[in-house]
Amino acid sequence: MGKILIKNCAFLSTMNREREELKDIDLFISNGKIKEIGRNIAKDGKLQVIDASHCIVTPGLINTHDHLFQSLSKTVPKAQNASLFNWLKILYPIWGRMNPEQIFIATQLGLSELALSGCSLSADHMYIFQNGCRLEDTIEAAREIGLRFNPTRGAMSVGESAGGLPPDNLIENEEKILADMERVVQKFNDPAEGSMLRVGLAPCSPFSVSNDLMRETAQLARSLGVGLHTHLAENDEDVKFSLEKYGCTPGEYIQELGWVGPDVWHAHCVKLTPKEIEIFNDTATGIAHCPCSNCRLGSGIAPITDMLKVGINIGLGVDGAASSDSSHLLSEARQAMLLQRLTDEGKKFSARDALEIATIGGARVLGRNDLGSIEIGKRADIAIWNLKELSLTGAWDPVASLIFTGPHHVKNLIVEGKLIVNDGELLSIDSQSIIRKAKKSLEQLMESAN
Ligand code: ZN
Repeated sequence: MGKILIKNCAFLSTMNREREELKDIDLFISNGKIKEIGRNIAKDGKLQVIDASHCIVTPGLINTHDHLFQSLSKTVPKAQNASLFNWLKILYPIWGRMNPEQIFIATQLGLSELALSGCSLSADHMYIFQNGCRLEDTIEAAREIGLRFNPTRGAMSVGESAGGLPPDNLIENEEKILADMERVVQKFNDPAEGSMLRVGLAPCSPFSVSNDLMRETAQLARSLGVGLHTHLAENDEDVKFSLEKYGCTPGEYIQELGWVGPDVWHAHCVKLTPKEIEIFNDTATGIAHCPCSNCRLGSGIAPITDMLKVGINIGLGVDGAASSDSSHLLSEARQAMLLQRLTDEGKKFSARDALEIATIGGARVLGRNDLGSIEIGKRADIAIWNLKELSLTGAWDPVASLIFTGPHHVKNLIVEGKLIVNDGELLSIDSQSIIRKAKKSLEQLMESAN
């Protein structure tokens, strides 16, 4: 594996425990790890040298919630102004028609956008498995792009006729779901330090799976030593469904099912009550905060300032492109900061708070203590941002300006010590060919909708 020397970083935000920021500093990477941080580091032999004298250097950003298959369903007209349940009902049939090739190209499209926005590790939540689609379609797509990947095997098992939200033709048999969950973990999950691929288990939501499947998935995940993920308390409809069907709030519901603990992270949690926040805190359960999606669907403002205050692990997620229309993780961090400012508690939610949930916060949520900050011994996932941009010019505080101004694209992205983006271009794959293939898949999907 190669060696990279990043010379003269104008500003380096470590995101270590003290949020230390360094100036005019070098960074040496070897064998996928951060080996040295200091002034005037000199190295002989074969290595790549990057001049960062006009750059801000941060840890690679971490995306804790996404549905990459949705990258081909941005701005679907009927779904543009819908709230969660109606939005899902409009989109389920479109997603249900996707084939493996379309899932593959949608995943590459989403991951490419993420890479160019500084993301080095993305989670994914695929939950519709029709027409021969498998988790493999996303895993193979991610391998080609070169990002670290944390796909989760999702599922829907309760259709409309049984009181669920999805149409009956999109649900799967629960025995088959559990068997496939076990198969993909055995086949792909790599628990080692520095892993490029970890697999989690993720029944879709309380309104599309049964209690039994939730319980059995938790048991299976724990026997296999992998993470658990689902959607929770996303909006008022979601809470109402839980109260009417289960007689308790979403937080109480998941506690009862064993879906709490440091190995579990829930997406959204917009409507958690103080009592539910206590449950999350007592059990070290993580949260994926998705502010753009929450705004787009009018779901509400997640009380993340309160949650961070008590010490809950919070990461950031772009959610699927059908509800955020974008996979720009740095921009998502900006949205998180701006949205908190609308709450009484979040008036002082800072740019550095936003950068923290986008980096080390996400690493904690995904159980990755080898990632999320720039420290000696951690894996070398690094984002380098060019200060010589019009929008970053005029800023008094360059690190804060990454979040306040923008959105910006990354200049260089390093994942596991390997350059994935150079001078704002993807190295691993031709982005023009992704655009061509994605356009073709989009046309097919649109035709099949007529
Ligand atoms: Zn989601």
